[in-house]
Amino acid sequence: RFQALLIEEVEGKPKARFAELGLDDLPDHEVLVEVAYSTLNYKDGLAVSGKGRIARRLPMVAGIDLAGTVVESRSPDWQSGDKVLVNGWGLSESEWGGYSRYQRLKAQWLTRLPDAFSLEQAMAIGTAGYTAALCVHALEKWGLPAGREVLVTGAAGGVGSVAVALLSARGHQVTAATGRPETHDYLAALGAGSFVARDELSEKGKPLQKERWGGAVDTVGSTTLANVLAQTCYGSAVAACGLAGGPDLPATVLPHILRSVALIGVDSVMAPPARREEAWGLLAESLDPKALANMTQVEPLSRLPELADEILAGQVRGRVVIEIG
Ligand code: NAP
Repeated sequence: RFQALLIEEVEGKPKARFAELGLDDLPDHEVLVEVAYSTLNYKDGLAVSGKGRIARRLPMVAGIDLAGTVVESRSPDWQSGDKVLVNGWGLSESEWGGYSRYQRLKAQWLTRLPDAFSLEQAMAIGTAGYTAALCVHALEKWGLPAGREVLVTGAAGGVGSVAVALLSARGHQVTAATGRPETHDYLAALGAGSFVARDELSEKGKPLQKERWGGAVDTVGSTTLANVLAQTCYGSAVAACGLAGGPDLPATVLPHILRSVALIGVDSVMAPPARREEAWGLLAESLDPKALANMTQVEPLSRLPELADEILAGQVRGRVVIEIG
């Protein structure tokens, strides 16, 4: 038997506890994986703390990411010994996830571990880093004008840290928006050239402001995203992936209809395999392993409940890998 973090319904509310499971308890999918590492993302914080209704059925093994080794496979696509990772695909929502020593998964959810990364590094990237790569890829496809700054909001968080490192490594001038001035040295080491205080963007502003950004990755949403759109240069794009500041968007159409500003929505959970490959390819090409190590802490499964509270309070810097094996 092995340990897993299970979300159950207690008095009508989702509640997490550590449980002992056996292989017979796992879902009947084609591929059995021995999980070495999982991660902590903002969504995991919501699921584990019970502050967000992430699981759509209970009981649920939480954890939206996992990396490990195939143990048994009924699919011709995967053999025992293959190193694999999973990001999203409904894990922790409708499907059992990564906070478990073993998990059974559908063959099409698995991504082969890129040669560039170890299992631990793949989870140091995790959904947060892969989402940052989806955002950077979307912005580059749209076009990032030379000589203009690219803004990253929620910069010291998981998505933000990887976005800063990737954009800088790919030759863009990066400005980091953070509410934690104590992270400036950390963000500068990842490649941020200048800083904006979180408050400057979170106060309600005019619908059109001075054009400043040649592109932006937004992890915050709400008034922050409205201000970022209002400050984006003519013809440039904002890739929005997060809601750390709230799910609302109190904005006007003016940046879009007067400056041709584009708002590109980025989802990682159901992104098709081709898009995932592009994002992991971009990470393999541009993410400096030293920068990745600098932004990562490795923690045991047992610390998940307290780490979940920390990530929701905006106190986690960079990425958290959860050691399972
Ligand atoms: P995270 O590590 O907690 O990072 C979020 C960052 O946002 C924090 O570190 C903080 O950065 C900033 N922040 C927190 N509360 C804020 C507030 N009230 N107002 C303004 N800024 C605030 O979380 P993450 O895992 O990187 O995820 C970031 C966001 O992206 C989350 O909303 C998550 O749900 C979303 N996400 C979406 C997808 C997708 O598929 N679309 C995938 C992954 C993540 P500073 O301390 O630097 O200010």
